[in-house]
Amino acid sequence: MADEGGKKRKGTALLAVMDENCSSCAGSPLCELHCPVDDCINLLYEELPGGGLKPYRVWVDNDKCIGCQMCYSDDLTKVHRHKETGEIYYEYANRFYDSSRKPLAPDQMPKKFQLQLIGTESEDRLDKKICPWDAIKMYEYEEALEVSKYFYDPSKFKTVGGLYVVDSEGKKDLEEQQKDLYGG
Ligand code: SF4
Ligand code: SF4
Repeated sequence: MADEGGKKRKGTALLAVMDENCSSCAGSPLCELHCPVDDCINLLYEELPGGGLKPYRVWVDNDKCIGCQMCYSDDLTKVHRHKETGEIYYEYANRFYDSSRKPLAPDQMPKKFQLQLIGTESEDRLDKKICPWDAIKMYEYEEALEVSKYFYDPSKFKTVGGLYVVDSEGKKDLEEQQKDLYGG
């Protein structure tokens, strides 16, 4: 998978997209707490007609998202690679397993800094979704780039005091676009 610059993209083939169901969790995004990548999930504010800002929804920086699904579900097995030995370790519900999926004894535990998260696996993601509004969908990378434009377009945001803001025109445009997406 390559981006426009031809660089290899880090992470899985997936990308998270937050859709119109996002309520911003009233300005304290739950999904952001689960994301291991700094500044990947960002709060977007709307400019109010009378002045002032109100949390609107979150947007994902498509260049930063590694598709790990940690914002999507709690029911995940994390796959780690040891940075020095290359060994694979699995982590589920804060317990670690070796590459044969045997639980690790305390003295076999690698240090956290030696591990690199390289992916996730899940058998059943239906019951443990992170988002209370079911606003997070995982897409293949190219498709996600297209779909995400219906919900946020960072090139149209401005920043006010370090916050990402969409003006009322921009918000209206997004909402019109979403109607097109859903054929209504
Ligand atoms: S958890 Fe869901 S509703 Fe809350 S900020 Fe994330 S996408 Fe939006
Ligand atoms: S898939 Fe992973 S990197 Fe991407 S937004 Fe979700 S938690 Fe962050």
